[in-house]
Amino acid sequence: MNAKLDSTVTARPVSRETFDQVLVPTYAPAAMVPVRGAGLDLWDQSGKHYLDFTSGIAVNSLGHCHPALVDVLTKQINSLWHLGNGYTNEPVLRLALALTEATFADRAFFCNSGAEANEAALKLARKYAHTKFGAHKSRIISCFSSFHGRTLFTVSVGGQAKYTEGFEPLPPSIDHIAYNDIEAARAAIGDDVCAVIVEPVQGEGGVVPGNPEFLKELRALCDKTGALLIFDEVQCGMGRTGALFAYMGYGVTPDILTAAKALGNGYPIGAMLTTDALAQTLAVGTHGTTYGGNPLAATVALTVLETINTPAFLARVKEASVNTIAMLQGLITDYPQVFSAVRGSGLLLGLVVSDAYKGRAKDIQKAAEAQGLMVLIAGMDVVRLAPALIVSDEQIAEAGRLLRVAIDGLLKA
Ligand SMILES: *Cc1c(COP(=O)(O)O)cnc(C)c1O
Repeated sequence: MNAKLDSTVTARPVSRETFDQVLVPTYAPAAMVPVRGAGLDLWDQSGKHYLDFTSGIAVNSLGHCHPALVDVLTKQINSLWHLGNGYTNEPVLRLALALTEATFADRAFFCNSGAEANEAALKLARKYAHTKFGAHKSRIISCFSSFHGRTLFTVSVGGQAKYTEGFEPLPPSIDHIAYNDIEAARAAIGDDVCAVIVEPVQGEGGVVPGNPEFLKELRALCDKTGALLIFDEVQCGMGRTGALFAYMGYGVTPDILTAAKALGNGYPIGAMLTTDALAQTLAVGTHGTTYGGNPLAATVALTVLETINTPAFLARVKEASVNTIAMLQGLITDYPQVFSAVRGSGLLLGLVVSDAYKGRAKDIQKAAEAQGLMVLIAGMDVVRLAPALIVSDEQIAEAGRLLRVAIDGLLKA
């Protein structure tokens, strides 16, 4: 019998080494393998406990295995899994109603990831301009250091050359400007531009909040030239900044908004939200995806949205943000040789390393993990914190304590 078909494979012991044997090496995961989570608590194969300040990269915003989500998902799992787009379903209809009632948008398109949501947004913008103005209006403006996903189109629109190198030829008619540079925006956004895509808070690019004046100017330039303004809120949306979506806090409304990550709290789902008029661009047959708006994903997302989108929940995010920033500022005061600044928005925060620690964010991440605290990095110079939005003040204090123990160890080494 073929060993690969052995029925005991589901019980076979696996470890981090297995990753190096049978996974395409696109990632370099941590040495420990998590097996169970509850809220911000996580345990690895050896039973070691971790405090999770990563939320699966701003995804599990309600924590691991949130009871309300386990409950609705279990019920849906026992009712209906999948239909395909020849049929609609009740959960996706309710989710679309809830998202459009909660935002500027009138219409939603569902897919399975952030990249796909941006792909849909960019395709809509191209097709809209093509139909309304003609083929010459095809240029897309994006920002350096931005991140919009890993499909060939979205990675080309993203502003980090290291992610496109070797994948050429890239789709044409895409230009990049410096983030928060109003003059560059004025120079770049002309009549041949069909879309301007921007993260209101850059996540992967180092946790950099957009300047209100910059985002307002992008809105004005799009209005002037007939380009569509796309806000990529895949990372900063769904309550992470303390507003349901970051655009609400800025008071700048996009034409298209993309969401994913926290929308499903770990159940894969992405969404593109837009106005009624623009949505008509994507008529029957112009775009689609097999799983988009699947009843399982839609059920989870609806409960996530209903849980996050209350004044009390969002007010607590802001309060937790203030407390986390105060904790991080304490670190900067006590360890100026390691950290120089804190930046970000809400519970998407970056701790910028000092000159002496330039390029060493990963060392700090590893030292924290050894102490039982999981944090992220954003580039090599920023330690990124994105705890679940349900983080308690006790957990914020504990994260600070663990970071101090980790830094003390690094300084001694
Ligand atoms: C993570 C991310 C994406 C890509 O989402 P995927 O689900 O990984 O495709 C796009 N934009 C931003 C801002 C992100 O943070």
